[in-house]
Amino acid sequence: MQIGFIGLGNMGAPMAANLAKAGHQVRGFDTAGVVVEGVTQAQIATEAVADTDAVITMLPNGAILRTVADQIIPRMKQGAVFIDCSTVDVDSARAVADQATSAGLLSVDAPVSGGIGGASAGTLTFMAGGSGEAFAKADPLFDIMGQKAVHCGEAGSGQAAKICNNMILGVTMIATCEAFALADKLGLDRQKMFDVVSTSSGYSWTMNAYCPAPGIGPNSPADNGYQPGFAAELMLKDLRLSQQAADSADADTPMGQTATALYEQFVENEDGNGQDFSAMLPRFEKRGRR
Ligand code: NAD
Repeated sequence: MQIGFIGLGNMGAPMAANLAKAGHQVRGFDTAGVVVEGVTQAQIATEAVADTDAVITMLPNGAILRTVADQIIPRMKQGAVFIDCSTVDVDSARAVADQATSAGLLSVDAPVSGGIGGASAGTLTFMAGGSGEAFAKADPLFDIMGQKAVHCGEAGSGQAAKICNNMILGVTMIATCEAFALADKLGLDRQKMFDVVSTSSGYSWTMNAYCPAPGIGPNSPADNGYQPGFAAELMLKDLRLSQQAADSADADTPMGQTATALYEQFVENEDGNGQDFSAMLPRFEKRGRR
């Protein structure tokens, strides 16, 4: 396939490289002039998308996605598929999908989980929204860049699944960290706390697979000085998207709202920026109730 790839950052660069390695002709564009092995560098976005069968975008946010979509959609070939893998707000995802389908294109919103490691290893999970025909056209590319793709429903459903998942993740991480800090104050050994919770009803991905306490459970960013991993500011971005979506859908999300406020405080007013999102544990450790 001829593929255009816009946004060759931490995630986009290895994803584009994997498509090229699999034998596709990939033309890439990034405003930062990034060069990726096996990918032909375009000088402007429209040059990357001309005469392609598929275009993938991997951009920082919805506003940038909308700007890029305005530039490239009129230049794309009829019947080609527009695949946005960025994490953006549901409203932008739906607006871009409408724009693409009105222009005679197929469109999929397909945010990912799996982080930079998953992007390099080709083991991402894709959560996709769009028509069955659009998903079927994008699916072989998901197979190369990832290990699983779930077709979640119509346009915007991929973003909806992503932000709901990450709202659970943010809330659960906070709950796990505050429980460890409480256990400390009650004199409970952290290893014993892990041994009990990881096999009891309080178990979760954050406890069992990504334990925020150093030296406990499987290897995690806590064992590496809380270097990300998944940075606290990216968690904050996703939590804010969840609250924006909750606002526009009139959904009551008190835990998501509290998690957003806590990560906002941690990233903007404390030392959370640049740390893994599990560094909430040392934050709680230092604090008291009064
Ligand atoms: P990044 O900042 O490393 O990459 C974004 C790239 O887009 C940059 O290289 C930037 O120069 C480029 N860019 C910005 N505006 C542009 C434009 N108008 N035209 C072309 N290129 C432009 O970010 P990332 O970590 O690669 O994340 C990309 C997306 O994936 C984000 O939406 C993020 O939320 C999501 N995501 C990231 C992770 C992660 O672990 N990093 C995990 C899951 C999802």
